[in-house]
Amino acid sequence: MTFVAGLRSDLGPSGVLTGADAAPYLTGQRGLFTGEALAVVRPASVDETARVVRACASAGVAIVPQGGNTGMSGGAVPAAVGDSGTSALPATSEGSASPDPPRPSIVLSMTRMNRIVSVDPHRWTITAEAGATIETVQQAAAAANRLFAPDWGARGTATVGGAIATDAGGNNVLRYGTMRDHLLGLEAVLADGRVWDGLRALRKDSSGYDLKQLFIGAEGTLGVATRAVLRLHPATPHTQSALAAIRGLDRLMPLLELAASRCGNDVTAFELIPEVGLDRVCEKLALARPLHTREEFFLLVRLASSEPVSERLGAFLAEASERGWITDAAVAVTDEQESRLWTIRDELSPMFLWPQHEHGVKLDTAVPIDSLGPYHDEARRIAAELVPGALTYGFGHVGDGNIHLYVLPTSDDGVAPFLSVRDKLQERIDEATFRFGGTLSAEHGIGQLLRDRIGPQKPAVEWDLMRAVKNALDPQGIMNPHKTLPA
Ligand SMILES: Cc1cc2nc3c(=O)[nH]c(=O)nc-3n(C[C@H](O)[C@H](O)[C@H](O)COP(=O)(O)OP(=O)(O)OC[C@H]3O[C@@H](n4cnc5c(N)ncnc54)[C@H](O)[C@@H]3O)c2cc1C
Repeated sequence: MTFVAGLRSDLGPSGVLTGADAAPYLTGQRGLFTGEALAVVRPASVDETARVVRACASAGVAIVPQGGNTGMSGGAVPAAVGDSGTSALPATSEGSASPDPPRPSIVLSMTRMNRIVSVDPHRWTITAEAGATIETVQQAAAAANRLFAPDWGARGTATVGGAIATDAGGNNVLRYGTMRDHLLGLEAVLADGRVWDGLRALRKDSSGYDLKQLFIGAEGTLGVATRAVLRLHPATPHTQSALAAIRGLDRLMPLLELAASRCGNDVTAFELIPEVGLDRVCEKLALARPLHTREEFFLLVRLASSEPVSERLGAFLAEASERGWITDAAVAVTDEQESRLWTIRDELSPMFLWPQHEHGVKLDTAVPIDSLGPYHDEARRIAAELVPGALTYGFGHVGDGNIHLYVLPTSDDGVAPFLSVRDKLQERIDEATFRFGGTLSAEHGIGQLLRDRIGPQKPAVEWDLMRAVKNALDPQGIMNPHKTLPA
């Protein structure tokens, strides 16, 4: 019996996809990466997952875990490794090299493991399978009058496992933190097929190494997350958002400080929106502009609380206006208006806005928060110098110093000149990111996209330590090879 036939006889026909049925799982959602796999394997339980991993370990088949495949960095699809893929993992600082040979792989789709195991309001936790979507978790928490705070545009498809594996962030990080701040306990299938049950619901536990931390941001390179205990917060029935036109990026930090002092912890989101993106989204989706005033940048701020928030939001906006930091503001007073503001925010990716987006340079940078404006200006300066006709715009999570920055051609004629300097542009912006003490991956992971660029960001000894962890947990190197650790 072939390897795939063996898996099929174990999991049944719906557990193993091949041919055209497998194709949608082999291309990353930005269309940048497509790989090959023997099959897409869809276990429905922890036991099935463990059996699949054991079969792969004994056959030397690589495993590419996949959740909703909404990841931005090509981590969830097999690497297209040609002859060049025979290259080993980079030499360590001691000069040795870890083997990372090309090998047949499967995509391990976790989407059938999508159940909510339990909601425990008195523990303020929810336990979910790795393939449950973020939206499912949010809804289950809300039904128990609790809040599961992580939230972003792909909430309906992105899964708990993918969010843990990328340490996903999103719009509420300012107040609630990333997935790292929400993971209390984890169950994972290790690379040899053993199941590690770390499904604890403890707020405090200083009994040795906190192993679940290793799986956060590991992008499936250490094992497969199967179930998680996640932290809940008090529900915030009162929320209100406002869009304000701001007078330049140098007003961002004073505005953030003002919001913190007037509205305290109720500020859950503090997002930068560029005029060019606002305009384009409204045109594409035929939405009425929430504000007719045009400034180069807007701020989308949301307050959320157990108490009404309008007064505090109004006071913040009034004071910001008196100080001349904002020139206009629209406060959402209906659910429809609120949802329109957040639709605009969710749709800002150029992927939805310009057909030439795939040629562009795209960054998920974080810098120390007070450097966000200067960093944005520097990236724009570099782009204007190298590709004068290209569009540069940044949006994102101001409160976390995390900016999604894009430089792209917006016409077909602009593509060829853009591509002629694209690598140089990328290199110069990366250098600027490192100079500002930033990271190339704030919340999207390294995957395949950044593997060749991320090296200079950390000292060699730090990558050595990561390789040591990888070798300890996955000595055969079968977990998501050619991802994350730099080449
Ligand atoms: C419109 C849009 C908006 C987005 N906005 C944000 C945002 O604001 N903030 C943000 O952080 N992200 C954002 N993302 C990116 C994406 O949604 C997140 O990275 C998300 O965490 C990926 O989840 P997923 O289930 O789709 O994972 P996938 O894309 O399937 O996988 C991502 C990585 O996790 C690994 N993985 C998946 N499941 C498991 C598992 N069970 N065990 C071990 N490893 C696993 C994969 O191997 C891969 O390396 C956005 C994406 C889109 C399309």
